[in-house]
Amino acid sequence: MKLKVAKFGGSSLCDASQFQKVKKIVDRDPQRKFIVPSAPGKRHREDIKITDLLYLCHAQVSHRVPFSEIFKVISDRYHQIAKELSIPIDLSKILLDVEDQIASGASLDYVASRGEYLNALLLAAYLDCQFLDAADVIKFHEDETIDLTKTQKEIESYVQNEHRYVIPGFYGSLPDGSIKIFPRGGSDISGAIIAKTVNASIYENWTDVSGFLVTDPGIVPGCRPIKTITYRELRELSYMGAKVLHEETIFPVLEAGIPINVKNTNEPENPGTMIVSYRDPIDPPGSITGIAGRKDFTVLAIEKNLMKSDISFVRKLLSILENHQVRFEHIPSGIDSLSLVIKSSELSGKLDKLIEDIHVHCKPDLLEIHPNMALVATVGHGMAYTPGISSKLFTALYESGVNVRMIDQGSSEINIIVGVENKDFEKAVASIYQAFIG
Ligand code: ASP
Repeated sequence: MKLKVAKFGGSSLCDASQFQKVKKIVDRDPQRKFIVPSAPGKRHREDIKITDLLYLCHAQVSHRVPFSEIFKVISDRYHQIAKELSIPIDLSKILLDVEDQIASGASLDYVASRGEYLNALLLAAYLDCQFLDAADVIKFHEDETIDLTKTQKEIESYVQNEHRYVIPGFYGSLPDGSIKIFPRGGSDISGAIIAKTVNASIYENWTDVSGFLVTDPGIVPGCRPIKTITYRELRELSYMGAKVLHEETIFPVLEAGIPINVKNTNEPENPGTMIVSYRDPIDPPGSITGIAGRKDFTVLAIEKNLMKSDISFVRKLLSILENHQVRFEHIPSGIDSLSLVIKSSELSGKLDKLIEDIHVHCKPDLLEIHPNMALVATVGHGMAYTPGISSKLFTALYESGVNVRMIDQGSSEINIIVGVENKDFEKAVASIYQAFIG
């Protein structure tokens, strides 16, 4: 039988009514064999995530400040869910044990992981599934990188039987048995690793949005959802600011060619977005997949006669950036000119000295500083090899009165990046959307 891994985020499991929705989703499809929960998230804007409360408990203990009041808030959340749904589990003893461990100075990783651990116990009892501790199956090497071979070996024995399993997200264990967590938001990564090691037909990532939208609905209200997107397109969009999944989620499943389906627990009938390794055919040719962008970049435009024949020019320039620990985003270049596109925050307190060093060591004929720039990336495999894409894009920008200050197509052919002034950012995104999607 084909099997699916379904990861539910914190908002999908924040209270009893969300637990009920998750049960309906899981029960509807017997292929959903491995269920990976996050810790309970926020129920409303001012609420605090369980994981954040656990971090707080750990901080209190390390400062020798009592933490029992905070811990009570945590216990109450779990008790309330159990009580409202009459879940046949008594968490009191387990909670007491966790509290004792925290009090006696348990590691931060252990403490932070308990949100997922407790939630998975609760969910397993509610769904009438087997609980499988992530510490027993998700294995790290001593150097704290994930040990996929060992993880696969541990998990394999659970694939063939008829049970359904709930495995807490966010953590695993080191060779000495101690708990090791992933970076924040890392239950996404746990789900992806499990999907890869059990060779799932699909990795479902259940959250509170119905997948990705073509662009920011704050800029284009009612904008279209993305039905299918490739991993590469998603990378291009997410580095520009569109973010739903943890960045490291993609890699385990990418290698195995397992699609990720981002779905909404509150709207389960919506197909959401399917993230796939490749898309063929792309219909219609010339279509775009998404538009993302960010404000607040600074462009340093450098001109020097015969720049191209000075073989050391770029090296000198990049060493200056390295010396000042300044990272750049893009370097579009012409015959005798080159621009450095840098996040303005990277330059704070460093700009004057950096400019001085460029003058001293690179001796440019002209060095202009353009602050307050925004980058807009238009991404899509459908754009590659399709004539007329750039003319459509630049005509749209021209017609809406946006001044394009920089262009960078990169080498991927699936991404055209334009630099515009911050004040034109929203207008640029909206006009590109209008031209390609309508
Ligand atoms: N609960 C963890 C966090 O808040 C992990 C996760 O939700 O994915 O970061």
